[in-house]
Amino acid sequence: MKILVLNCGSSSVKYRLFDSTPPVTLTKGLIERVGEAGGDAADHTEALQRVMESVDLSGLGAIGHRVVHGGSLFSTATIIDDKVVAAIEGLVPLAPLHNPAALSGIAVARKLLPDVPQVAVFDTAFHQTIPADGVTYAIDADLASRWQIRRYGFHGTSHAYVARETAALLGRPPEETNVITLHLGNGASACAVERGRSVATSMGMSPLPGLVMGTRSGDIDPTVLFHLHRTAGLTLDEIEHSLTRTAGLQGLAGANDMREIQRRRHDGDPAAELAFTVYCRRIKEYVGAYLAVLGHADAITFTAGVGENSPEVRAAALHGLSTLGIDIDDTRNRRGDRLISSDSARVRVCVIPTDEEQEIAMETSKALRD
Ligand code: ADP
Repeated sequence: MKILVLNCGSSSVKYRLFDSTPPVTLTKGLIERVGEAGGDAADHTEALQRVMESVDLSGLGAIGHRVVHGGSLFSTATIIDDKVVAAIEGLVPLAPLHNPAALSGIAVARKLLPDVPQVAVFDTAFHQTIPADGVTYAIDADLASRWQIRRYGFHGTSHAYVARETAALLGRPPEETNVITLHLGNGASACAVERGRSVATSMGMSPLPGLVMGTRSGDIDPTVLFHLHRTAGLTLDEIEHSLTRTAGLQGLAGANDMREIQRRRHDGDPAAELAFTVYCRRIKEYVGAYLAVLGHADAITFTAGVGENSPEVRAAALHGLSTLGIDIDDTRNRRGDRLISSDSARVRVCVIPTDEEQEIAMETSKALRD
């Protein structure tokens, strides 16, 4: 059976066609600058029509849609019907940038291929296993429940995939393996995975908090917002733009790409040096916290653009932790091995390329079987 995975962003549509068991990629592509002047498509309808024309849909058994926010409603991949669409619509206030794009993808795909089952795979679903004490903010409980304010967490498909691949690399059953997964891409988040289940993650109600990212601040004191509004006179929209688009590495050193930060750091640029150290220290703080949450970790796994490709970040983020059983082997790290810890280290350190589309395809076929 073939499965088409669709990842509709606000201005792009990524697609990949799989043959399901075992998942083999048949075709993939990207339609960019959707809705922009000179872009590949005028809107999501046209973009998806392009996708349908460019892939061989014979034998298509299902479409898997990536949906960013599933709120508290979805703890697993779910077959899409009108009720599910309405529920995803109801979550738009929690993900105003992301869920509308997924919804238009779902609407167009259902219209073009009404007989093909469609499945929603949520970035938040994997984190639904985090216990109440890990998702509850210590704020007025009535306000929190009225406005659905809690931690949801994101990058769930990636954390789930690399945690399982880590167990496979170590030759252990996933349900007997504890892993701290570090997804370091443009967005970045950490996750504590206990026996295959997420028990803590660094993003929150939105993908803004936690680790330092390309253009997002990660954790800050919320009083900064009051101060920027009252004292500096910025509007709420300006503050949101600042913390999501011009913060993080971009805000500290004027570049959101870690390769450039590293280059400039080697050239002696103090802003790039500070950006690098702030970025790596934040990772270390979360690793320490999640070691405590788990009590015992079998592995720490790096993934996504920075995690897979930057030996410098990996070394700096875990530097000085040998008393906690964490020690990176310099040669393995620089060589790009999958297992980069030293032989004597208690906690294995791994580098695993993430594959969110493949995970979405697997979740899609699982949803159809269940
Ligand atoms: P996205 O979150 O958009 O999927 P990726 O996971 O592809 O992003 O990560 C993109 C980031 O990875 C880039 O912005 C860049 O900072 C980083 N990156 C890619 N290659 C390298 C490298 N060789 N060294 C350091 N960082 C890298």
